[in-house]
Amino acid sequence: PNQHLDVPSFISSQPHRGKTAFVDAVTGRRLGFSELWLGVERVASCVYALGVRKGNVVIIISPNSILFPIVSLSVMSLGAVITTANPINTPGEISNQIGDSRPVLAFTTRQLVSKLTNSNLPVVLMDENRVASSGGGGRANISRVKQRVNQDDVAALLYSSGTTGKSKGVMLTHRNLIALVQAYRARFGLEKRTVCTIPMCHIFSFGGFATSLIALGWTIVVLPKFEMDQLLSAVEIHRPSHLSLVPPILVAMVNGAEEINSKYDLSSLQTVVVGGAPLSREVTEKFVERYSNVRVLQGYGLTETAAIVASMFTKEETERYGSSGLLAPNVEGKIVDPDTGRVLGVDRTGELWLRSPTVMKGYFKNEEATASTIDSEGWLKTGDLCYIDSEGFVFVVDRLKELIKCNGYQVAPAELEALLLAHPEIADAAVIPIPEMKAGQYPMAYIVRTAGSNLSESEIMSFVAKQVSPYKRIRKVTFLASIPKNPSGKILRRELIKLTTSKL
Ligand code: ATP
Repeated sequence: PNQHLDVPSFISSQPHRGKTAFVDAVTGRRLGFSELWLGVERVASCVYALGVRKGNVVIIISPNSILFPIVSLSVMSLGAVITTANPINTPGEISNQIGDSRPVLAFTTRQLVSKLTNSNLPVVLMDENRVASSGGGGRANISRVKQRVNQDDVAALLYSSGTTGKSKGVMLTHRNLIALVQAYRARFGLEKRTVCTIPMCHIFSFGGFATSLIALGWTIVVLPKFEMDQLLSAVEIHRPSHLSLVPPILVAMVNGAEEINSKYDLSSLQTVVVGGAPLSREVTEKFVERYSNVRVLQGYGLTETAAIVASMFTKEETERYGSSGLLAPNVEGKIVDPDTGRVLGVDRTGELWLRSPTVMKGYFKNEEATASTIDSEGWLKTGDLCYIDSEGFVFVVDRLKELIKCNGYQVAPAELEALLLAHPEIADAAVIPIPEMKAGQYPMAYIVRTAGSNLSESEIMSFVAKQVSPYKRIRKVTFLASIPKNPSGKILRRELIKLTTSKL
């Protein structure tokens, strides 16, 4: 079979026939690599028959499923561009993404189709049985379908999380995805087993589960979305050696460790990669203490770099708690003073600039934003305040845009959040700026207490005050049931700021 194999170039050298590519955690259905390649070829020919040509955009709005990567790979194999929308987005947000990316075809599920309010966009309902069967009607001759794809052609148009402003369309090329597979191969290796619970629409999961790990022959157990019991049951049943998670899941696992360890057999787990948002040394320490056989590997990346550019791998690297690991072999990094543009030395904090074959082509239809983010020598300004130590370990301090400006000083919310999370009665925390006449801004904290705790506002403020300089002290505390976060685990500070200002 598969003489006409037609998959994107970052995958075709690694067919892995005879092995399992995907397992659906809900139905137990398994899909071998041969079936996967056949599915990709069939969907590609259907997509072609529906009129999609090189350079056209196709949107996918779907929870995680085995079909998600099949559709994405099919579209990319035609030289067309896949864009992913988050299924939890509102119809208005999806309509904005459609207005910006102008797809010619949409793939979605029966449950989500009502979110598509753009009536004249052709829609394909994703039905696993049909892709797995004979391919249905409307198939085109596969030899006509094959198109010459250039490595600098755009393969995916992924939207950034919109944490610090309006979400931007990031153009990732075939070359970017090939380089990403190389980085994954160097850091994480071939043919392991993992569970995918992070939404595939986000670059962390798309760059890993929907592209690179397939190229490297991993077996991926797919969960439609994150649900703690489902994730832990999947680990017990399918016995993966590896998980990729975002920090809030790790925090929840730390808080529930006693019950989790008594209920589930997690003994297969060796490594957990965590990325997408800051993970403090304190939470990492608690995690490895409570799950003693598991190593926590931090990974750092942006949509603009097709995900992971720094990560941990070896046992020694893992022990650098609080760091995001080493830059991948094909990535150059430097720390720049954001005010003067001067390059700073070892251990000095400034903006991290990156140059790598995974750096995006640019922002879609936004030359101005592209020019202010990538300089003429190809350096991408990450907007993250970081330092790199003498051995090359990257430490992310915070996002430049989220620093709290207090009496002429700059306070990193992530530093205060890490301190707060070290308190045994604090289950979760978020720090935001609150306006003040004299100081300009000062830090306030939203706190989720552990069950049964009566910890007071003044106890929290003095716990922090004992450990930081006076300008970093927290001046107000509000208790919440949960902290709002996006799918990549980032605190939605703008929602908390809105909540605060509405009460002032
Ligand atoms: P927008 O640019 O629209 O505001 P976003 O930057 O949140 O969205 P993403 O590409 O999802 O969109 O996130 C990239 C950012 O995530 C990085 O710039 C960094 O601030 C943060 N990040 C990712 N991994 C880590 C990590 N390991 N530690 C700290 N921060 C991280």
